[in-house]
Amino acid sequence: MVELKGVKKRFGDLEVLKGIDLKVERGKIISIIGPSGSGKSTLLRSINYLEVIDAGSILLDGVQVNRPDLKGLAFERHINHIRQNMGMVFQHFNLFPHLSTLDNVTLAPRKLKGMDARSARELGMELLDRVGLADKASAYPSSLSGGQKQRVAIARALAMRPKVMLFDEATSALDPELVEEVNQVMKRLAEEHMTMLIVTHEMAFARDVSDWAMFMDGGVVVEENTPERLFAHPDQERTRNFLRKHL
Ligand code: ATP
Ligand code: MG
Repeated sequence: MVELKGVKKRFGDLEVLKGIDLKVERGKIISIIGPSGSGKSTLLRSINYLEVIDAGSILLDGVQVNRPDLKGLAFERHINHIRQNMGMVFQHFNLFPHLSTLDNVTLAPRKLKGMDARSARELGMELLDRVGLADKASAYPSSLSGGQKQRVAIARALAMRPKVMLFDEATSALDPELVEEVNQVMKRLAEEHMTMLIVTHEMAFARDVSDWAMFMDGGVVVEENTPERLFAHPDQERTRNFLRKHL
């Protein structure tokens, strides 16, 4: 579903991704863990091309995401199409403050897919219901808790019916008591076999929910394995060190 081959990215002198290979099969959930600055966010941002990579290739469902051969409008069109198939949820929810919860969720399908108001409303209500917020459809983001905002952000990302969902520390800005409600929504998506790539610092959650876990450090994948194996019996000293501090 998502495949990365030899992906490299540098910011000036700093090589942040030093050749990443990664494969997420349809319906699988991959967690990425690693210390601050190891390149996790850059990796996710590269996948939907919020960062332009320097080398390697990224494929979504067999379609190449990075297309150095396409320029200007042709590239814009290509990348917009690609992005419609990827839902991304960030640490900070980035909801539109002037739009109701429902309008936040339905904006993209109306604008990008030309969905009529009534179908969009139905879809929006279905998704809000799925994240447990049907009763907040007309509320504005400022009146929601952090956990509720993040659940709206997930519903909004789902509204384009993406093929894959990318989560970048979706719960790390939340008060501890709000983390679980967001984790529950992500777990439900996992049970529904949504393909997901999850960057998280919550080791227990990563262990529970994922099919495969990767440990990144210094722009490389140091070690990857089943979560059972990676969390309980890491092979590499660097992984052991990291887990000792974070478990
Ligand atoms: P964290 O766990 O703190 O979120 P991370 O693993 O997500 O860390 P990245 O955000 O990918 O790490 O950053 C990797 C490195 O790249 C860091 O050293 C960071 O300072 C650097 N970096 C990221 N974005 C940029 C940018 N736009 N310009 C310059 N350097 C950047
Ligand atoms: Mg990050």
